[in-house]
Amino acid sequence: MNQSIPYKIYLEEHEMPRQWYNVRADMTKKPAPILNPQTLQPITEEELSGIFCRELARQELDDHTAYFDIPQEILDFYRMYRPSPLVRAYCLEERLKTPAHIYYKFEGNNTSGSHKLNSAIAQAYYAKKQGLKGVTTETGAGQWGTALSMACAYFELDCQVYMVKCSYEQKPFRREVMRTYGAAVTPSPSMNTAVGRKINEEFPGTTGSLGCAISEAVEAAMSQDGYRYVLGSVLSQVLLHQSIIGLETKTALEKYSIVPDMIIGCAGGGSNVGGLISPFAGEILKGQANYQLIAVEPSSCPTLTRGIYAYDYCDTGKVCPLAKMYTLGSGFIPSASHAGGLRYHGMSSVVSELYDQGLLEARSASQREIFQAAQTFARVEGILPAPESSHAIKVAIDEALKCKETGEKKTIVFGLTGTGYFDMYAYQKYNDGLMEDFAPSQEELEKARANMPQTGK
Ligand SMILES: *Cc1c(COP(=O)(O)O)cnc(C)c1O
Repeated sequence: MNQSIPYKIYLEEHEMPRQWYNVRADMTKKPAPILNPQTLQPITEEELSGIFCRELARQELDDHTAYFDIPQEILDFYRMYRPSPLVRAYCLEERLKTPAHIYYKFEGNNTSGSHKLNSAIAQAYYAKKQGLKGVTTETGAGQWGTALSMACAYFELDCQVYMVKCSYEQKPFRREVMRTYGAAVTPSPSMNTAVGRKINEEFPGTTGSLGCAISEAVEAAMSQDGYRYVLGSVLSQVLLHQSIIGLETKTALEKYSIVPDMIIGCAGGGSNVGGLISPFAGEILKGQANYQLIAVEPSSCPTLTRGIYAYDYCDTGKVCPLAKMYTLGSGFIPSASHAGGLRYHGMSSVVSELYDQGLLEARSASQREIFQAAQTFARVEGILPAPESSHAIKVAIDEALKCKETGEKKTIVFGLTGTGYFDMYAYQKYNDGLMEDFAPSQEELEKARANMPQTGK
């Protein structure tokens, strides 16, 4: 091994980003505005502040400020687990016998096990600063709920989590981590909220969905004094906070004069891939550089690759603002056999717009392919990856193998968003050879799309 580039590139404290980057500021054509679900007009800061903390509402609607100072309290918290390492995957390169250089940015180095803490701590901080009592949220697989419970514990805020019922039952350990950090965890749909009672009545025995848990969490926030709703992905404010991933990556690469050819991230609601690519997309937008940017999603929830670009509801209960995004329709529920995460029906409006402008490519991968990539990676690089992250691993390996054929020495960077210790049922299924691939039929996609809002926009 030629180790002139260290196995792990860390940043010194003075090299750490002190501002988040808002890529919308450098987009000539901006993402479409989010709409008030009642009036179908662009939502105002005032209206949005009823749901979200005021400062976060401001960040959500700001298309023009390129850099936001990261408050000192958040920098202090980031210091506990950041910078995250940028790792040169020497061992993976050797195993693949590829001339490509592979790097991954590892965000699983904190107890919640994923990048979600980067935004959770920011959102908890602004809630605290506004003098709120607490926040409500939903969680699917549980990573966001865990991250938020850690952040709320740090700032002594109450944290109420609506957890999709099937995950609540299948992932008891995630639930207990949240409770250890002081969060109240309720399986959704519950009988606590009007929307939960309605869904339970309409679909008896339902094991819930992310869209439904969002509606419950929003209702819970609106009906309690001193509470606001917070969301762990999709929103532009979340992408802004996650830009810390891309900014650190860029500084680390520049430290060793490494110029990436391609940057790859997995895409659920779009926050990690959006944050990772933001500074690089900014350079492309300003005509300063060129990179191949790739988002990878599951073939069983193919939002970018098979969805449509239109205004849609962000939640089943239709209480959230409407966003123009790539979407499968808010009624879309991935097959029950889908175990790889990234199940949301829509995609960040920023990521959607970048994709629509052709700055970002999208690929899909089946779950057996992604678990195979996870296994290859785990065996040489030591880290047991989250299934979500393994979507990015899969495409990084594909690209490295292409280089082996062509002899090209490309530099590939991908986001390793988290660890998979709470996903052992999925790994078990894969190891037992019981995992099945699934992709929705055209008919199913059309059906899920039937109830999309008619905004005339
Ligand atoms: C939540 C999550 C994702 C997907 O969410 P995005 O908002 O698309 O980034 C990816 N990887 C891990 C480990 C996650 O927890």
